[in-house]
Amino acid sequence: MGFYCKKCGQQFNDIYGLTHASCHKGGYHELYTGHESGTYHCRKCGQQFSDLYGLTHAMCHKGGEHEPYTGNEMGPYHCRKCGQQFSDLYGLTHAMCHKGGDHEPLE
Ligand SMILES: [Zn+2]
Ligand SMILES: [Zn+2]
Ligand SMILES: [Zn+2]
Repeated sequence: MGFYCKKCGQQFNDIYGLTHASCHKGGYHELYTGHESGTYHCRKCGQQFSDLYGLTHAMCHKGGEHEPYTGNEMGPYHCRKCGQQFSDLYGLTHAMCHKGGDHEPLE
């Protein structure tokens, strides 16, 4: 158990320590508010990882590094721009949204 930074995946024993230490990704660490076990998905591309560190330190084909999805992991997933429903995050993030760009998950 512990608290994780959503930008770099580093683990801390308390939230105060996390939010008051500088993150190598820039600024201070930011608290990850999603689930803490099982698998993690990138909110930009839907790729699955077994740990937050691996997710935040790999390049995302959508640009930059992967960013953790912090919403419900049970599905279905909804686009926060148009409300369309998907059974998996990969499908959601790889389909065009009529609001512009690709769909983005509601968290
Ligand atoms: Zn960090
Ligand atoms: Zn990604
Ligand atoms: Zn959409």
